[in-house]
Amino acid sequence: MEEKYCCDVMKSKVFLIDEFNPVKNAIEEGKLVVFFPKFREYGLPYIEDSVSVDLIEYCPWCGKELPKSMRNEWFFELGKLGIDDPLSSKRIPKRFKTSEWYEENFGEDNRLPDIEK
Ligand SMILES: [Zn+2]
Repeated sequence: MEEKYCCDVMKSKVFLIDEFNPVKNAIEEGKLVVFFPKFREYGLPYIEDSVSVDLIEYCPWCGKELPKSMRNEWFFELGKLGIDDPLSSKRIPKRFKTSEWYEENFGEDNRLPDIEK
């Protein structure tokens, strides 16, 4: 699935994180920004004792606001499926490992569901 980026610099600097491409790889490849498709979160990777990421809300190059995080919604939707410990669960549906779940649930216009936080 093609991701939409705010600018060409972001597109050239970003590293997509998934279960096979951890943050460690981004650092080793010298990528400055990581993107977690399943949470729709952008961050700056670094090593401080262990691999860490500081999440960002604006593009460091063009200054545009990045899409809102879907992390809370991710937990909420998996909770509805009866998965209460999704970070350690082995039975996460495949679409929840990518951006597929929110695109299919909430569409291209990024409409967020009403959830209680
Ligand atoms: Zn940008």
